[in-house]
Formats: sequence, C-alpha cells, structure tokens
Amino acid sequence: MNKLNLRTNKKNEIIDITEDIRRLTESSGIKNGICTVFCPHTTGAITINEAYDSSVKTDLMFSLDKISPVYKEFRHAEGNSDAHVKSSLIGLSLNLIINKEKLIIGQWQGIFFVEFDGPRNREVYVKFISE
Ligand code: ZN
Repeated sequence: MNKLNLRTNKKNEIIDITEDIRRLTESSGIKNGICTVFCPHTTGAITINEAYDSSVKTDLMFSLDKISPVYKEFRHAEGNSDAHVKSSLIGLSLNLIINKEKLIIGQWQGIFFVEFDGPRNREVYVKFISE
C-alpha cells in the first residue's frame, strides 16, 4: 500500500501531487493497469485539472466558494459544512490508466489534492492493479 502524507497550510488550498503519483507509478513495476488514488477525508478531495496556468486553481476555488458558501442554516456543529459539501462535489478518488509503465495524463493536466478545511495533516492512498 502506498500513501502520501501531506501537510496543508490554509483553509482552501490545492496541492499538485502529479509528480508523487508519477514516481509511485514508475517504481511500482506495473507495465499496464490502473492506478487508484483515494482521499480518506470528508473535507478534502482529489481531482484533475489544468496545472500549466496556476490561475485555474485560483478560479476553481473562487467558484467553489460561490457554489458552496457558509450558510447560517447549516446544522453541523463543527462549523465546516461548506467544506463537506465541496468535498462531495469534487469527489474523493481517481482511476488512472497506466500504459507501458507510464501514467496517461494530458499535457496540461495535473493531479490535485484539494484542501477545504486546512491546515491539517492529510493522507492520500495509491493502489495499483495490473492488467
Ligand atoms: Zn465537519
């Protein structure tokens, strides 16, 4: 079992984990198969989006704050329901294709861990399935 340990720094943050996933893939020995990336947290998420222009990350967070603001009607006592909603909107796992020992990912894409309630210690699990 492979696991990344991340330390996030603020409430809303996007951390590029593409090179970590690529490194684990290339050291896994898998020639062809699937790489599953899973976030075991209810106020974090995993997604793929543009990594080339970092303003895309900023705009993504801006839009998610508009989609899921903090409502006074929220009942969850921890006070972070906006973060729980964003986590469910984005999702917690990815299935990526490994072809000829390489991760298939688009030229402009990056794999992101998304923090909605930091700073926190976070984990990302990575599992490989061989074809
Ligand atoms: Zn909560």
